[in-house]
Amino acid sequence: MGGLLGFALISGLARWRGWPAGLYLALLALWWAALVLLTTPRLGLPQAAEFLGGNVVLWLLLGPLAALVLAYHALLRRLRARALLRVPPQASATAAPPAAPAAAFSDAELTRYARHIFLREIGGPGQKRLKAAKVLVVGAGGLGSPVLLYLAASGVGTIGVIDPDRVEASNLQRQVIHAEDRIGLPKVVSAEQAMRALNPHIAVRPYFQALDETTAADLIAEYDLVLDGTDNFDTRYLVNRVCAALGTPLIAGAITQWEGQLSLWHPASGGPCYECVFPTRPAPGMVPTCAEAGVAAPLPGILGAMMAMEAVKHLTGAGETLRGRLLIQDALYAETRVIAVKRRADCPVCGGH
Ligand SMILES: [Zn+2]
Repeated sequence: MGGLLGFALISGLARWRGWPAGLYLALLALWWAALVLLTTPRLGLPQAAEFLGGNVVLWLLLGPLAALVLAYHALLRRLRARALLRVPPQASATAAPPAAPAAAFSDAELTRYARHIFLREIGGPGQKRLKAAKVLVVGAGGLGSPVLLYLAASGVGTIGVIDPDRVEASNLQRQVIHAEDRIGLPKVVSAEQAMRALNPHIAVRPYFQALDETTAADLIAEYDLVLDGTDNFDTRYLVNRVCAALGTPLIAGAITQWEGQLSLWHPASGGPCYECVFPTRPAPGMVPTCAEAGVAAPLPGILGAMMAMEAVKHLTGAGETLRGRLLIQDALYAETRVIAVKRRADCPVCGGH
C-alpha cells in the first residue's frame, strides 16, 4: 500500500523533525491530492495506481474523513484547555489570594503555560493570578538573576526590577541573567532584555537606581509582592520596614560563600518581619559581601529559584509558604534546615500594629 506508506512517512518525518502543525497538515493534504490525481484512470498510469493501492474513489473518500478526524481532535484539545482555565484552584488554609481576574489567555500563552495549568494547585485561575500580579524585585544580581528569569518564565504579568549597578565581568560567574556582550549595560536593562527574550507576554519595568528612603514607599506601593535579593543591610532593612508599613509581603533571600537563607516576611497576615528575627544590624564591615568573601556559583541559583517558588506559591495560593519559617541552606554539606520563626511584640518595625 504505497499510498498509506506515504502518509506514514510524512507523519514520521514530522514527529522526528518537530515540524509545525501547519506544514505537517499541508504535506498530508498535498500527498492526498497527488494520490487522487495519480490513481485517476484517465491519467493512464495503471502501474502507479496499483503501487499506490486502491482506486480514486477510495482516496477521494478518505481525504474528507481524515480532515474531519483531525478537526475533531483539534476541537477537543481547545475545549480541554478552556475547561482547565475554569477549574477552581485548591483551597489554601493559609493564604487568601484575590479572586482570579478575568484576564484571557492567547493560544500562545495557553501553550506556554500548559504545564502550570495542568497542575491542580495552580490551574487556570492560578495562572491568571500570576498574570495579574505585579512583583518588584530588588537587585538584579546573583539572587535576582534566577528570581527574574523564573518569574518571567512563570508568567508573572508585571515585573519591576531595581538596581543601580552595571554588568561587570566578575558578575557572570553567578549572575546568569546577564551575558558577556552586555557588560557595561545597566543590570536592569540587561535583565529586561533576557526576560523579554524568554517571555514576550509580560511587562518589565526597569529602574536604574538604588532603592532609597525617599522613593522606596512610593515604588513598593505599586506592587503586590516584593522579592529582595540585595547584598547590603541598608537596603534589606529599608525594604523590610517599608513592606511592613504598607502590608506588602516580602520574600527575602541572602547568601554568602556556601550558605543561604530565605523566608516570606508578612506581618500583615500574622507572620514575623525580617527585623523580628534579626533585630540587631551587624556593624558595618562585620558581614563580608560576596565580593569580599566569595560565593559558590550555583548557590544564588538554588536560593533564587526557591525565592521564585515561594512567589509562585504565594501568588497562586498553592501549598504552604515559608511565612513563619526560615529556610537555611548549607550547600557545602548539602543540608537544608527549616526553623520556625515568631513575631516579636516589641519589634520596632511591626510590633504593636
Ligand atoms: Zn517585626
